[in-house]
Amino acid sequence: MAQVAGDYLIDRRYLEHNLSIDTQEMDKYFLQRLVHHRITERRLPLGRAVGIHQMWGDGRPCDACEEPLSPNERAVMAMVPLEWMSVHLHVNCYELWDAERSALFGEIGGRGESTQIM
Ligand SMILES: [Zn+2]
Repeated sequence: MAQVAGDYLIDRRYLEHNLSIDTQEMDKYFLQRLVHHRITERRLPLGRAVGIHQMWGDGRPCDACEEPLSPNERAVMAMVPLEWMSVHLHVNCYELWDAERSALFGEIGGRGESTQIM
């Protein structure tokens, strides 16, 4: 009785096309979770960056996503004086890290700065 019509294939291609757009959103979400995790594990600093330099990539991996920063990509190098760490990131990864770490700083920031009561 029920015959699969040929034009269902068109609908399917249309769906797959839309799914590939969602994949980019998924990647961004995944990267955000990764950056969040790295900050809580202290593999990425929690403190505020100073001395931010923009440069071209030099082939070294990004501290956030571990993809190499190729010479045709903009990279960010920044110092974090609170933890004496420097970060080397893609511009996009820098923005993600900065947003995540400032959100986290509000939650667990007390650990970074000692408040001497006694
Ligand atoms: Zn990156």
